[in-house]
Amino acid sequence: MKARTLRRSAASAQRFIPASGDLTEFVEALARSRGRPTVLLGVAFDAEAPSGVWIVTDKRDYIAYPNDASAARKAAIVCHEVAHMLLGHDPPPGTEGLLSLAASAAPTLDPAVAIRLLARHGYASEQEADAEGLGTRLAAELARRERLARAPRDRVYDRMR
Ligand SMILES: [Zn+2]
Repeated sequence: MKARTLRRSAASAQRFIPASGDLTEFVEALARSRGRPTVLLGVAFDAEAPSGVWIVTDKRDYIAYPNDASAARKAAIVCHEVAHMLLGHDPPPGTEGLLSLAASAAPTLDPAVAIRLLARHGYASEQEADAEGLGTRLAAELARRERLARAPRDRVYDRMR
């Protein structure tokens, strides 16, 4: 994908990024615009699993991330998967097999195993590179806005002392 197209995708995604820089709010705003609820799902990934997975079910989308990821790593992973959505990539084939993971109230499949199976069906490397490029921009913008949102309060606090 051309750099200009990637920049345009990043620009159109900006409107979903809240002033707070909050990752969950960002995903919810995007979900509203797509008309599909999107759930962030912390899962125990094993070492062979990919870092994140976008799972599509008939009613909602899930973005699975390692439940031991730091906040920054979680944001990077979720933004990468969000980038696949924004760029109009098809969800990875084989996600039907992850329905039981998504319906995690009663999983019949070990999520780690399911995700490892899924790892064999990857995206084309160009799509991966595009998602990584856009995802990195989104995560950086979230972090920037979070810093900005925090800064004024710190200044007020300084004045009050
Ligand atoms: Zn990817």
